[in-house]
Amino acid sequence: MTAAAPAASPAPPQILLAHHLRQLKLPTFLREYEKVAAEAAREGLDHVRFLLRLAELELIDRERRMVERRIRAAHFSAVKSFDTFDFTAIPSLNKPLTLELARCEYLIARDNVIALGNSGTGKTHACLALGLAACQRGFPVSFFTAAGLVHQLMEARDERRLLKLQAQLASVKLLIVDELGYVPLSQTGAELLFEIFSQRHERGSTIVTSNLPFEEWTSVFGNQRLTGALLDRLTHHVHILELNGESYRLKQSKARRRRDPRPPDEVAAAADPETGEIIPDS
Ligand code: ADP
Ligand code: MG
Repeated sequence: MTAAAPAASPAPPQILLAHHLRQLKLPTFLREYEKVAAEAAREGLDHVRFLLRLAELELIDRERRMVERRIRAAHFSAVKSFDTFDFTAIPSLNKPLTLELARCEYLIARDNVIALGNSGTGKTHACLALGLAACQRGFPVSFFTAAGLVHQLMEARDERRLLKLQAQLASVKLLIVDELGYVPLSQTGAELLFEIFSQRHERGSTIVTSNLPFEEWTSVFGNQRLTGALLDRLTHHVHILELNGESYRLKQSKARRRRDPRPPDEVAAAADPETGEIIPDS
């Protein structure tokens, strides 16, 4: 008689636990449980407090991962916040209103925000910071330049997926349309953009930035009636941020020049694509 083969030894519990925690999508639990167990033993914590500590770590990490996911999904041109925004550089901007908007209650009221002002005054920075604040507070955001959005709408129309894109754009909690006014729109482009604003009206918030005062928006949309109807919707519930003043970039490059008084041709120079101003490479 041959001896029975020894029973396969069961997998060590650590391996099973790791597998189950992965299945349950609890990566922080998995990463931290040994360390937290050692802490719990040192501090004499009971098993409920040990589990509580792990659950809290998982929740904090999950929130952070969700914010990161929202930031990626927003397609911001850069990630900027009000922490790096110098309000003293732009006295025309209503700071209390801006900080109030950063608390995101306008998103619940479905109000819009329009930031107006000349080039380089921080409109893009401010709308990126509002977008980031929205992501941090749990709201899905989509960021576009006006030209980029119109381009995507035209492309979607040509590829017969306009309805799908419109539905996506209508449902996002916050749509940011930066730089309306730098490029005049074709008639189709203007109509497509109008439709988006129209579909979002009272459904979700839209932030628009523009270098043009409202009186000049007709020059972008090329049609007075359309512009009127658009402004009517956009400004129905709106907070206006005015950013008029000296360009922040220009002010900074002047300050740099004061620190580095070499004649311009000795300084490796690059032109700012927006303003055409020469920025010495310091
Ligand atoms: P705009 O969109 O009005 O043309 P930007 O937001 O692009 O201006 O600003 C130009 C540059 O200057 C950006 O790098 C921005 O971060 C910076 N900037 C503008 N205003 C401020 C400010 N008040 N505090 C800090 N940085 C600023
Ligand atoms: Mg800008």
